[in-house]
Amino acid sequence: MRKNNKSFADVLQLSQKILKEYDLCDVCLGRLFAKNLGLVSNKKLGEKIHRILKIKSAKCYVCKNIFDGVNSQVAKMLDVSSDYDFATFLVGTKLKPSILDRDDHMRSRFRLRGIDGIKTNITRELAKQFSHKTKKKVESSEPDLTFMINFKEDSCTLQTKPVFLWGRYTKSERNIPQKQKPCSTCLGKGCVDCSHHGISEFDSVEGLISKYLFEKFEALQAKITWIGGEDSTSLVLGSGRPFFVKLLNPKKRHPRLPKKIKLGEITINNLKPISKTPSGPVPFTSKVKLYITCENKIEQNILSKLDQLEKNTIAVYEKSGRRTEKLIRNIQYKSISDDSFYLSMIAGGGLPLKRFVSGDDTFPNISDILENKCKCETFDFEAVKITH
Ligand SMILES: [Zn+2]
Ligand SMILES: [Zn+2]
Repeated sequence: MRKNNKSFADVLQLSQKILKEYDLCDVCLGRLFAKNLGLVSNKKLGEKIHRILKIKSAKCYVCKNIFDGVNSQVAKMLDVSSDYDFATFLVGTKLKPSILDRDDHMRSRFRLRGIDGIKTNITRELAKQFSHKTKKKVESSEPDLTFMINFKEDSCTLQTKPVFLWGRYTKSERNIPQKQKPCSTCLGKGCVDCSHHGISEFDSVEGLISKYLFEKFEALQAKITWIGGEDSTSLVLGSGRPFFVKLLNPKKRHPRLPKKIKLGEITINNLKPISKTPSGPVPFTSKVKLYITCENKIEQNILSKLDQLEKNTIAVYEKSGRRTEKLIRNIQYKSISDDSFYLSMIAGGGLPLKRFVSGDDTFPNISDILENKCKCETFDFEAVKITH
């Protein structure tokens, strides 16, 4: 690396030349030479040069005295972040293009290479002061808080790193849908009507979980990844269905989470923070109990024909032409009446159970095997297991 080491005498000489044409603040003047002299404080160096040359600066040509406003910007940062839990932060800035232009102009006019730009300088200064006041650490990769200080619009905004969670829920009553309809005004984006949650009602599994998390983490939105779907009439029993949550804009990051969280007819078990939600599909199996009714009387012993499904794969065809296969690991059945029975099975996650019973584009299927038009009235989950 080439370093054009200037002596302090050279610096003073060049400074004199520059300051004859341009009024510069301590920071902008110091920045032109500090790196070269191996000094850390642009401001102290600028002060020293100004003092020795007996030149006072009024209004900085480059920054229009932007550095005088650092304290008030830091006060704003403290104000907007006062409700947030965080250990690390990062500062971003937007400056008026005219400031950047004048900074470039100075550097090329006096052929000053390898020095920090004004944007780096102001950003670092804000971060330093804020860190000093809060004792929090600057971190560039995935900080808890990211400030954006926009000098063009005189605004200070804040973004927080999402919180990721995983847990399981059980559902002990029928007629609670799994998913919540999005807010009808914004269709889920978030608006004033739904307090920026994207949903405005909380009468589903998703709604109940989200509402709890909004309050607990003071978060704005919850993006839930379900390990499998269910009907509103399904029960979810056993240890429950796993789910992952990405919680957006949380103010609290580490609230205490009880092992069991009862929310009306649903219960969340073992909700825990994790570092990231899975990016691809998560393979799983479901142990389900189906209540099946048939159009015609079920002939004696015909249910035993269902044994052939065990360890068999079911081909599922979608309208799009896509074909998937789901393995049935285990199957059991129990007659209830002349035209109804229970079917219990462990099957690959995502098998469309109602279609598997009625015979709609799934092969083999229950209706074909029993030669009887069958209908899945309800299906309840007894266990959902992630299988990787
Ligand atoms: Zn300046
Ligand atoms: Zn809305």
